[in-house]
Amino acid sequence: MKSLITLVIFEIKIQTLKDTFKHKGLRQKLVEVIKSKGITDQNVLDAIGKIPRHLFMDSSFLDHAYQDKPFPIAADQTISQPYTVAFQTELLEVKKGDRILEIGTGSGYQAAVLFLLGAKVYTIERQLELYKKTSKFLPMLGYKPKKMIFGDGYKGLSSEAPFDSIIVTAGAPFVPKALLSQLRIGGRLVIPVGDDVQIMTLYIRKGLKEFEKHELGEFRFVPMLEDKN
Ligand code: SAH
Repeated sequence: MKSLITLVIFEIKIQTLKDTFKHKGLRQKLVEVIKSKGITDQNVLDAIGKIPRHLFMDSSFLDHAYQDKPFPIAADQTISQPYTVAFQTELLEVKKGDRILEIGTGSGYQAAVLFLLGAKVYTIERQLELYKKTSKFLPMLGYKPKKMIFGDGYKGLSSEAPFDSIIVTAGAPFVPKALLSQLRIGGRLVIPVGDDVQIMTLYIRKGLKEFEKHELGEFRFVPMLEDKN
């Protein structure tokens, strides 16, 4: 009886982790859509073309997985729109071996993109439910961040700093000083800044206290929340 139950559970897992030709076809269409919206970095497009986004969403949303739209995940959060993921990733100019800190692990989709680009990924999530779910799920698919941390991204991760780049995937009311200070000289911080609507902002660290700032259009994210204790 026990082995039958194990078999059934195993079967369910296999079923739910399926990536079919249909999914692959839809994914290629999604890549074309993102390209037509202006994404040119071939490595980023290839990564989006490879990652089974439908597996990062709850089963009731499977049909929506390859539309260029954000969708709800657990804990009232969202998986970002693929175009937004591609846009932020392109701005990081990822090179193999780069040490990248992500704030807002969420479903793990963005972390998977960075992993496929050859980055050493450190990612922080403040929702325990999502942290638990994603820290099991991502390695199961073969996407292995260096560290997945349950904590407050406003503080960054000083024990692993400096980073080649930092990406924030929640809307930040202001730019946390800790994140700027944990960039190496030449490093890049990509962060959507604002309350209701956010301006995608790129900071490039030019010196100890010198940062170049670029503002790159409006986006909408779930808020970056601060733990006040
Ligand atoms: N990168 C994710 C996007 C998830 S939405 C993906 O690809 O699916 C943004 C995430 O940021 C949410 O999961 C939210 O819980 C998290 N978040 C918000 N404020 C945070 C903070 N201060 N520290 C860490 N994570 C935070």
